[in-house]
Amino acid sequence: MPMATPPKPSINAVVFDFGGVLITSITNQLSKIAQRHAADVPTMLAIMLGPHDSGDHPWHRAERGEIAVAEIQVALQPWAAEHNISLHGDEIDALMTPGQYTVIQPMLDKVGELKRRGFKTGLLTNTFAEFRPTMEQDLRFEDFTAVVESFAVGARKPEPAIYQATADLLGVSHPEILYLDDFPQNIEMAQSFGWSTIHVTDPLAAIPQIDLFLN
Ligand SMILES: [Mg+2]
Repeated sequence: MPMATPPKPSINAVVFDFGGVLITSITNQLSKIAQRHAADVPTMLAIMLGPHDSGDHPWHRAERGEIAVAEIQVALQPWAAEHNISLHGDEIDALMTPGQYTVIQPMLDKVGELKRRGFKTGLLTNTFAEFRPTMEQDLRFEDFTAVVESFAVGARKPEPAIYQATADLLGVSHPEILYLDDFPQNIEMAQSFGWSTIHVTDPLAAIPQIDLFLN
């Protein structure tokens, strides 16, 4: 007797992370800052962007809209001291300087294509209110059914609340979502909600993988 396999729900929404998926990864800039301090990139990442788990790191707090971006730099001091690093005071500015990343145009084109094919499209990003004008220049917001920004939701990936907000704003159930992100902790939480996922390490290589999930 053939084994009955439950029908796999079809994907009706494709959701994109911003950094590392629609633009080049922020770790490119971080490596320059790490070099200045003779630190490795994971250490610099932990100091400036905080640990994998969401918490009270100033970067996390700014992404939840709790403090301003301008308040991050000073508040990093104890996190740097933990790694015996004295920050120069301009690290956050260096990280946020315009022109430090490249938009991945073929991925943006894919978003527009999916929208035209009738799929719902989402942007799910940990980001600051202060960064919104820049993101509006980089992206065509009309290509997204829903734009979900951590500062507006008051929760950041991988906190569960922002994943729930994404499904609610898109008007789909969790198993209908395909999600692309470059951070493993964000992917793991998406999977725990029942989302299909693509862990992006090379955005150009990820583009053809999207259609493998779509009927
Ligand atoms: Mg990312």
